[in-house]
Amino acid sequence: MNTLTDIIRPDIQAMQAYPVAALPQGCLKLDAMESPYDFPPAMQQELGARLVQAPIRLYPNIATDDFIPQLKTTFAIPDAAHVVLGNGSDELIQLLTMLVAQPNATIMGIEPTFVMYRHNAALYGMPYVSVDANADLSLNLERTLQAIAEHQPALLFLAYPNNPTGTRYPREAVEQIIAAAPGLVVIDEAYGAFSADSFLPQAGSQDKLLVLRTFSKIGFAGLRLGYLSGSLNVIEHLRKIVPPYNMNQLTLTAAKYALQHNDWVQENVTRLKMEREILFAALEDIEAIKVFPSEANFLTVRVPDAAACFEAFLQHKMLIKKLHGMHPLLAQCVRITIGRPEDNVRIAGVLRQLYA
Ligand SMILES: *Cc1c(COP(=O)(O)O)cnc(C)c1O
Repeated sequence: MNTLTDIIRPDIQAMQAYPVAALPQGCLKLDAMESPYDFPPAMQQELGARLVQAPIRLYPNIATDDFIPQLKTTFAIPDAAHVVLGNGSDELIQLLTMLVAQPNATIMGIEPTFVMYRHNAALYGMPYVSVDANADLSLNLERTLQAIAEHQPALLFLAYPNNPTGTRYPREAVEQIIAAAPGLVVIDEAYGAFSADSFLPQAGSQDKLLVLRTFSKIGFAGLRLGYLSGSLNVIEHLRKIVPPYNMNQLTLTAAKYALQHNDWVQENVTRLKMEREILFAALEDIEAIKVFPSEANFLTVRVPDAAACFEAFLQHKMLIKKLHGMHPLLAQCVRITIGRPEDNVRIAGVLRQLYA
């Protein structure tokens, strides 16, 4: 056998695996926008009974399964829109990149943003053009429109609201970006449930507009289920490259259960949005730090020393995300997932102790 150094792509050899942080014992996980809420015991029992009955002997058949119709009804996905499911929206980001990967095609993102856009462009050997947001993490529309005109991206990813900043760009500006784009525009609404606005009602209305959503941030990160809504003209091509059995019966069964209990899901979302505002107000009172307005289930905060802040949270048995080093605009920033009311009191307590 030749040496692996000769066989494996040099660019992949040079990459680092996506860092999934280990959770120290007894530590509260506030680094990945997971929901703090489990189904109550009676619902867990009921879900368990359904999972026992799930037809795991059989391959899933999405075309004949009633999951997508149920999904469309529950989340009011327009009739005009067609839907593809992914093993997390991560898989859909990968498939969308594959869909347009050809010589001279370019991917564009507005940085700082979700790292998987850039990563997938690299995996498919595509140039990734990044346009920077403003220093206050707001959209620089002029610069973005200029970059679109100059680079003519085949695919533009726009997280609405954005991760890791929580910012939701103005709708009118995003509409201008969509109008100016020569290629596909993916409006990534991973945090759509926590946002004041959505492009989901427009899904299917024009070929270039695709709306990406996920079950991950509303309580089901472990199910690995994302969905992309768009026009049939685009979705029919995507269907050719989706692995035939990318969904599994256990995920489909559990996700149907979640849809049937969407009231419970939405109650949690409402509580987390309220908690976000309470925590935001508490952090705004601390003069030494800067908390950015967020329409997601996390807050991004600039502190005097992100590394020390991260360590202090660990001391208090909370794992947060250090953003410092990811992008110049994120200098000394950390990102904290909104938790239960009592968790948020602890979060504010640590920051007050450090900086007030
Ligand atoms: C979390 C996140 C995703 C990934 O979601 P999965 O469905 O868990 O793969 C996609 N986009 C953004 C912007 C995210 O923050």
